Amino acid sequence: MGVLSELNPQAVFTYFEALCHIPHGSGNMGKISDFCVEFAEKNGLWFYQDEANNVIIKKPASCGYEYAAPIILQGHLDMVCQKEEGSTIQFETDGIDLVREGDYIRAKGTTLGADNGIAVAMIMAILADKELSHPPIEAVFTTDEEIGMIGAGKLDMSVLQSKRMLNIDSEDPAVVTVSCAGGSDFWAHIPVSREQREGTTVVLTVKGLRGGHSGVEINSGRVNANFLMGRLLHSLSKACSFDIISIDGGDKGNAIPVSCTAKVLTTQPEQVIAAFESCAVVIRDEIKSREPEFSWLAETTGTGVADVMAKETSDKLLHTLLLAPNGVLEMSADIENLVETSLNMGILKTEKDAVSVLFALRSNKSTALAFLEEKLTVFFNAMGCAIKTGGHYPPWEYKNDSVLRDLYIEKYREKTDKTPRVEAIHAGLECGVFAAAIPDFDCISIGPEMHDIHTVKERLSINSTKEIYEIICRMLADLK
Ligand SMILES: [Zn+2]
Repeated sequence: MGVLSELNPQAVFTYFEALCHIPHGSGNMGKISDFCVEFAEKNGLWFYQDEANNVIIKKPASCGYEYAAPIILQGHLDMVCQKEEGSTIQFETDGIDLVREGDYIRAKGTTLGADNGIAVAMIMAILADKELSHPPIEAVFTTDEEIGMIGAGKLDMSVLQSKRMLNIDSEDPAVVTVSCAGGSDFWAHIPVSREQREGTTVVLTVKGLRGGHSGVEINSGRVNANFLMGRLLHSLSKACSFDIISIDGGDKGNAIPVSCTAKVLTTQPEQVIAAFESCAVVIRDEIKSREPEFSWLAETTGTGVADVMAKETSDKLLHTLLLAPNGVLEMSADIENLVETSLNMGILKTEKDAVSVLFALRSNKSTALAFLEEKLTVFFNAMGCAIKTGGHYPPWEYKNDSVLRDLYIEKYREKTDKTPRVEAIHAGLECGVFAAAIPDFDCISIGPEMHDIHTVKERLSINSTKEIYEIICRMLADLK
């Protein structure tokens, strides 16, 4: 008997518990993928498994729905593996232990993987249920979503007939998500020429900034440490003379940098430190509501000869830090408070022959994303910098007329007497990969109430799972 065996709808929780017993961290997809195939075989359903371990299972329409257009039900098979200190679990081989606490299911000392195991369980329950009314169903279980939507990217979309999809990878039933961002990485390399100079090295650091996710937090007033350092160096250059040795800030494209350090060489170390501190005080007052923990450090580390950046190089560097676009560029006119286009300089790094910068670009409109890349290319090419782009993922654009969105709103209202919020996110979802491949795509992303996903506190609401399962079944029954 499982921990969840007396919960209803029984099939949903039984499948969820079975999935939890199979190790399925990102990168470890073989067993769970085979479990889906066995499930299809047992239920006499058509299936397809590819090299990336994605699984597609098709269930014919129920009686009376033979002429209805098919629909994709989609979730991802992998989970983020996190454990408490001291936990002895081996995620490669062990399943996780479930605990029930009131309305919540959580795991003993680990992530739960309700993101996104509960979607797979609900879809299996629908596939196995012979009583439900529904159009032809194409269930799509993708792999390695959490490490870059790898499975979805490799899926052969020509296996699918549907032009509409329910993605069940969201965490709040009171929200229906209708668009996500696309994005790319943009690298620029500012060539460095150096000269030998003599002087005292001063290390200047800004730190204590809030940082955060470059998509989700880009609109919350967080200060980018790299640009802050650019502003400080520019102010310094008007007050005293120095040369830049190096500048480094941030270590991930998709995180807003929380600190940045510049090493400079000068014959006036006291003036440099005094000017740096007085500029930092001015900025502290300016940003204190947004960045209450902002602090800085300025200290000398020795005197001697050093290779400093030639003026031409440091000019390019400061032009970049004063003039390059960064942060929110455009808000959506369709969805309130949605950032439509943004970028974040996540890495600024001094290497031997170049200062490299990495921007994470995002837009919920593919043309705006392409134009942003173009704009940065022109900006950096004008300074003779080499550029490189990669890591493209497509946006899922907002659709004015969405049958699925309206139907979800109607069924959610019927069930709860409340109206769900229509939202879009400024980050990637697998829906974008499908939207790029399927013309006239109609899609929503929904899901039961979950908290603290990707952490050991992850928990799933039982009632909310029941509620959303019922809403999905009622939606399917309406899609004649
Ligand atoms: Zn997920």
